[in-house]
Amino acid sequence: MTTPLLETLCSIARSLHRRGYAHGSTGNLSVRAIEEVWLTPTGRSLENLAPAELACLGLDGEARNANRPTKEFPFHLAIYRARPDLHAIVHLHSFYATALSCLEQLPEPDVLPALTPYYFMRVHPLAVVSYHRPGAPSLAEEIGSAIARSNVLLLRNHGLVACGATLEEAADRAEELEQTARLHFFLKSERVRVLSPQEIRELL
Ligand code: ZN
Repeated sequence: MTTPLLETLCSIARSLHRRGYAHGSTGNLSVRAIEEVWLTPTGRSLENLAPAELACLGLDGEARNANRPTKEFPFHLAIYRARPDLHAIVHLHSFYATALSCLEQLPEPDVLPALTPYYFMRVHPLAVVSYHRPGAPSLAEEIGSAIARSNVLLLRNHGLVACGATLEEAADRAEELEQTARLHFFLKSERVRVLSPQEIRELL
């Protein structure tokens, strides 16, 4: 029953890798199917995964098959426990979002301005999560609380987490953040027009 969903996960993972969103063995994805969470395995590239290689956990972290999940699984579980409406997570160390996460000072209150309506509709508001060692329980704890106020998170000195009701929606949000971070750096020395409050209101 879950096979088409797991094939979709592998195909989105492959597509993200092929288009340069995930290098080496970085990045991980998961999807929730009823009370089970299926995650990409530890130490593997997103390039060429098969459904039989995915790890399965209960929401309590109990292993449901023999495959070992990504070491970053605690924050995936924290998100699913905090937000019953979210069913998919894409986590990337993509270039521009990670560069943004490493800036000493992030603009406030909005890390990125509403450069395009697509950023505003798919990503805004972007929440920032402070730096923790990857896989640390404290990282999962802070992510579990930040996800209450946003579907997309920027992890300091680490990368991005994008969530959605579906894998497609989570991937779409991740790509939109990466693209907007890229625009941000590209336009850094230019005078930029951002959407006006009225233009933003029209999107709500
Ligand atoms: Zn990571």
